[in-house]
Amino acid sequence: MKIIVIGGVAAGMSAAAKAKRVDKNAEIIVYERGEYISYGSCGIPYYISGITKDFNSLIQRTPEDFYKKDIKVKTNHEVIKVFPKENKLIVKNLKNGEVFEDNFDKLMVASGASAIVPPIKGKELKNVYTLKTLEDSIKLKKTLISKEIKKVAIVGGGYIGVELAESMVKLNKEVCIIEAGERVLNVFDKEISELVQEELRSKGVQIRVKEKVEELIGEEYVKAVKTSENTYNADIVIMSIGVRPNTEFLKDSGIELTEKGAVIIDNYMRTNYKNIYSAGDCAVVYHRVLKENTYIALATTANKMGKIAGENMAGGSRSFPGTLGSSMLKVMKLQAAMTGISEAQAKAKGINYETNFIKAKNHVSYYPDQTDLYIKIIYEKDTHRLLGAQTLGKDGAALRIGVFAAAIYNDMTLEEIALMDLGYTPPYATAWDAVNISAEATI
Ligand SMILES: Cc1cc2nc3c(=O)[nH]c(=O)nc-3n(C[C@H](O)[C@H](O)[C@H](O)COP(=O)(O)OP(=O)(O)OC[C@H]3O[C@@H](n4cnc5c(N)ncnc54)[C@H](O)[C@@H]3O)c2cc1C
Repeated sequence: MKIIVIGGVAAGMSAAAKAKRVDKNAEIIVYERGEYISYGSCGIPYYISGITKDFNSLIQRTPEDFYKKDIKVKTNHEVIKVFPKENKLIVKNLKNGEVFEDNFDKLMVASGASAIVPPIKGKELKNVYTLKTLEDSIKLKKTLISKEIKKVAIVGGGYIGVELAESMVKLNKEVCIIEAGERVLNVFDKEISELVQEELRSKGVQIRVKEKVEELIGEEYVKAVKTSENTYNADIVIMSIGVRPNTEFLKDSGIELTEKGAVIIDNYMRTNYKNIYSAGDCAVVYHRVLKENTYIALATTANKMGKIAGENMAGGSRSFPGTLGSSMLKVMKLQAAMTGISEAQAKAKGINYETNFIKAKNHVSYYPDQTDLYIKIIYEKDTHRLLGAQTLGKDGAALRIGVFAAAIYNDMTLEEIALMDLGYTPPYATAWDAVNISAEATI
């Protein structure tokens, strides 16, 4: 059996490695249009800030490592067309321009996503960057090293924008986040994202909300960002307004895509063609609470779903139980995390919900460094079933989200969560843990 994988990062390499483990005789070829494979994009902000010194340490395995396992990885090879009915595709060698045909028995589309650049004047100026791939981060890092680069404008205050703002502060740059929405980090509800904003501002990050970027000004190099309200000087601009699936090459192929271009798959990672699979940032993911397909670009799901696709391509029948969109990030001294749905999502979905927002403590008062731990919960009004949770604090906030994720996954109610037997010792928790308290204080 011959398996071709398009894309060599989280979903693609998870699929290739698993397929080979399940079927040792399978011939596996990975086409990756970039230079690097199998790296942790999530570590990019820490490479930019200098906490992670060498970008090579973000790379888990090289093409040579995979060749040793009999998986042929071809970097600088872009798949430009897929013909599902004929089980063939067209590949372009980006080094020498050669275009050739290859065929497959099973195909895995793991082409990920690219940063969105809005169609504004000046977007092609020098020192305007996006940050999605390892190549992007190497280029950006080279520019940032220059002492001439003092003012950094980050367009978009989502996860990546906020993480990058921290990296820029660490590099002693003046940083301004320009966000079109009402606040940064607006996948979180207001209670949490406003605390994040306060933290960023207290560390010198300028935040401009409700301002839409209209133009980038400069001749050869960018000099300023013009928004709907103001003009801000900038030596460098980083566009981080979101990502869109890399699926242009599938248009007209017959593989079903959503309106926004994400590959439609089922819980076995199968597309509408029974021998073509997909997963990761290029595909939809089933949401366990919303009970519908969503588009959430996260490494956690890309890795798991990629592995499932690999197993199934090699003859398995494992299914993915759905995402909760669980995610976390570090913002200066704060940890923020969320799982399940936000209040905004519950409202949009027409769910009969209630919420509670509490302030608890990370551990007992008589042990040093006690800090506040904020928790917001979203639950079904009639059943008290937990639908979502968000946490924020200086210590113990990020990993506590895992308890809420397990509770949502298992349809637990507030009454059950309140009395769940969580561990306690003074340096790490309180006898009623903050998670228990969030539920007990609500019922
Ligand atoms: C700065 C940053 C921080 C992040 N932090 C986190 C985090 O903390 N937690 C988290 O869960 N997620 C995080 N993410 C998201 C996470 O990195 C992605 O969800 C994950 O990389 C998706 O993996 P993927 O394999 O689906 O896609 P990608 O990583 O996008 O890889 C797809 C690959 O396919 C290649 N490709 C595309 N089209 C073709 C083609 N036609 N032919 C050949 N090759 C092609 C691309 O070059 C690319 O290398 C972060 C992302 C970034 C950029």
